[in-house]
Amino acid sequence: MDQFMKRAVDLAVNNVREGGQPFGAVLVKNNQVVAEGVNELHQAYDVSGHAELLAIRRAQEELKTHDLSGFTMYASGEPCPMCLTAMYFAGIEDVYYAASVDKAVEAGLGKSKQVYDDLQKQKEERSLVMKHVPLEEGQEDPMKLWKEQ
Ligand SMILES: [Zn+2]
Repeated sequence: MDQFMKRAVDLAVNNVREGGQPFGAVLVKNNQVVAEGVNELHQAYDVSGHAELLAIRRAQEELKTHDLSGFTMYASGEPCPMCLTAMYFAGIEDVYYAASVDKAVEAGLGKSKQVYDDLQKQKEERSLVMKHVPLEEGQEDPMKLWKEQ
């Protein structure tokens, strides 16, 4: 196993020992660790406190950029849809993971699988109900405002 993946797994192991969930992540560029994260849901009331998201947040703050293209994510567990989406937005194109989503389900951590499954469905069939509310006549349109800038 590669040194970065080993580090991600070590972070996850330590996190479990400290009362957290088994997730660690390491963000690498040019063969160097730029940021790390562990799942911090046991420490803060913040559902976005996932290992990968925290590593992304730290790297972006440190480098003062949203663009992490060319970075590689090493995650002890297969990223959830939220973290995966953050990686898309950040321009990350390479992700290595150890434990699969199915492995997480076996460990009693089924949320990720549940969301991945839900996203496979048509919008109308998902468990999270989304309703389209168009702007009212005469209401200022922020999209239009943005486009005209
Ligand atoms: Zn996540």
